[in-house]
Amino acid sequence: MSETIFSKILKGEIPCHRVYEDEAVLAFLDVNPLSPGHTLVIPKEAKATLDQLSDEASAAIGRVLPRIARAVLAATGASEFNVLQNNGPGAHQAVFHVHFHIIPKLDGKGLGVGWQPGALQEGAALAAKIAAAL
Ligand code: 5GP
Repeated sequence: MSETIFSKILKGEIPCHRVYEDEAVLAFLDVNPLSPGHTLVIPKEAKATLDQLSDEASAAIGRVLPRIARAVLAATGASEFNVLQNNGPGAHQAVFHVHFHIIPKLDGKGLGVGWQPGALQEGAALAAKIAAAL
């Protein structure tokens, strides 16, 4: 995978406001926050998108994500938040190293969601196709 701004942060070549680190995970404040406390949680494993991530790196992220979210809420006073994880440029990904955004909802600031739901079509066939691909 080509080098990204986050691999440079992991190597200490670019500074960040670190909030958490262990052997597999780093979390730091987003440089352009949607709201105060907007935090990025990244695996140290360098993979561009979530579907490429190993089970071990995924487990390491999942283990600490709720704990970091609780700390962000405690520090900001927010009681609501979104977790956002973009994969691919068409899905709004700008940095091609897996990352989870923790975005507090506070004083009208936070993630804006343009959610335009449809009606589920051919759910049984689709669910079976996804299950078969697992
Ligand atoms: P994406 O759209 O890829 O899901 O989000 C990438 C995020 O990385 C953006 O929210 C952007 O503000 C953040 N970001 C980009 N470059 C840097 C940087 O050098 N330092 C920090 N802390 N955040 C960055």
